[in-house]
Amino acid sequence: MPFMMKIDNSKLEGLDVMPAGLYKVRLLGFKPKYSKPKGDGSQPSLNLNAQMEVMDNANPELNGRKVFEGLNQNAGWVLQDFAHAFGFPLETDGTSSWLPGMWDGDASDAASLVYKGPMLGQIAEVELAIDSYQGKENNKIGRYLCRVPECATKFPTITHSLNLLKKG
Ligand SMILES: [Zn+2]
Repeated sequence: MPFMMKIDNSKLEGLDVMPAGLYKVRLLGFKPKYSKPKGDGSQPSLNLNAQMEVMDNANPELNGRKVFEGLNQNAGWVLQDFAHAFGFPLETDGTSSWLPGMWDGDASDAASLVYKGPMLGQIAEVELAIDSYQGKENNKIGRYLCRVPECATKFPTITHSLNLLKKG
């Protein structure tokens, strides 16, 4: 018999944004996706779409809430801050740099890519900010706290961003 598929009205607005501030997060994995073609002939770029979850929060309702980071491959400074927050410098051959670890799958099919590396399950501290997009508030990571030991000495050329939202 046909029926109406109802949901509770409290679900209509989605989850409230989390208060701005410092959060401990665990890296769950990545859901890579190519950016939409711009139509100017340029190659679409890959967004790694990192997925994290809040843990050990003083407000237990926030534990398990998801936190996302696009990690576009053209925004290397974000990739660098991200890796350092989980305690890993980027690996490099002098010409290119990459997150530590390998990927399984076919590079032309983003959905097939699976990260196999030491960052999985690792913990970082991040500063969540509140951003708004089309009139709706959402959480974005404004800053990653570096936990690479002696980063400033070992990597004097690296300046970690204090406000990623400003850089776009
Ligand atoms: Zn660092």
